[in-house]
Amino acid sequence: MKEKVSLVKCNEYDFTEVKNSIVESFENLGGINRYIEKGDTVLLKLNLLMRKKPEEATTTHPVFTKALAEVLIEYGASIVLGDSPGGPFNQRMLRNVYKGCGIEEIANETGANLNYNTNSNIVKNEDGLILKEVNIIEVLKEVDKVISVSKLKTHGMMMFTGAVKNMFGVIAGLEKAEYHVRMPNNVDFSNALVDICLACKPTLSFMDGIVGMEGSGPSAGDPREVGVVIASTSPYHLDVVATSIIGLEPTKVPTVQRCVERGICKGSLEDIELLGDDIKDFSINDFVIPEIRSLDLLEGWVPKFLRDIINRLLQPKPVFIHEECVGCGDCAESCPPKVIEMKNKRPVVNLDGCIRCFCCQELCPKKAVKIHRPWLMKVLSKL
Ligand code: SF4
Ligand code: SF4
Repeated sequence: MKEKVSLVKCNEYDFTEVKNSIVESFENLGGINRYIEKGDTVLLKLNLLMRKKPEEATTTHPVFTKALAEVLIEYGASIVLGDSPGGPFNQRMLRNVYKGCGIEEIANETGANLNYNTNSNIVKNEDGLILKEVNIIEVLKEVDKVISVSKLKTHGMMMFTGAVKNMFGVIAGLEKAEYHVRMPNNVDFSNALVDICLACKPTLSFMDGIVGMEGSGPSAGDPREVGVVIASTSPYHLDVVATSIIGLEPTKVPTVQRCVERGICKGSLEDIELLGDDIKDFSINDFVIPEIRSLDLLEGWVPKFLRDIINRLLQPKPVFIHEECVGCGDCAESCPPKVIEMKNKRPVVNLDGCIRCFCCQELCPKKAVKIHRPWLMKVLSKL
């Protein structure tokens, strides 16, 4: 059976236009009542990576959040808005992020509740491949349904961050860093992301693709108009459609690769029923995609010890632009293996211990961390 993915055109964050697009998305998927019961408490699991203004396109836009919350409230549901942003998961941090991202205002306007519960619980995950149990934030246990509300963005480590990776935000604050340390390679880490998404079982997934982010996502890239609201019951198939729209071959994305290997999706439009507007109307062929591919193409040609040396030499690395840095220390705090030291209020990294997770870039509020890719890697990656 094909998975349904709805595409609805929406060119700007005009509240009425966004709300109409969301109503149309639900209609395309067969109506809200197929998924949500009146009286249900629904968590909108937003992407609130860090305190960023909505126009920077790092976080789920507040107008999108408000429109979705209002549609569900009018239907008869109660809404909780939440995420576990980067950094420590405490009430002060949550208040700061909700306010800075425009979400606190939305809660006041709609009557939605903001999540301030910072507890976590271990849940069994029978469908998981490498995570048979996952410690996830308690709010998921308190609600009847979860809707993933992601932002369409590229990602320096995982190439793309969409509906599946959005669910990584159910791991509490700094515990996310432990995953990077435990699983420094992309295959394990992307399997873990799929496992976490399976453990959360979102009832629906929406993607704010009205303005996405290209280049050095998930926070240091540039906003890019895409003009689409995407919705599906399957976050895995939604990501296939979203990546297809931005001209990124879905099977190049580690999470999609894992889903294909695990039989969750085919990694193409073959097992997807597209509903709503024509996908061709949204296609972009010059969306800036970060290149993450490792040099596994040397496998079979070069002995492993030599391949390891070459891979190490050609790996991308974080570079700290001290002129743009304000010395906040967020990069050092968020670095999973703690290889960043603040010297004279500027970060200095020990690359020997760096696992190339790029959390430092992800959480730098000043875009002062760039990813340097050796020119030879860029050439080989295109082969
Ligand atoms: S997070 Fe960014 S601004 Fe803050 S210390 Fe690190 S590089 Fe500088
Ligand atoms: S320096 Fe940056 S890329 Fe390297 S391990 Fe730390 S956070 Fe990750």
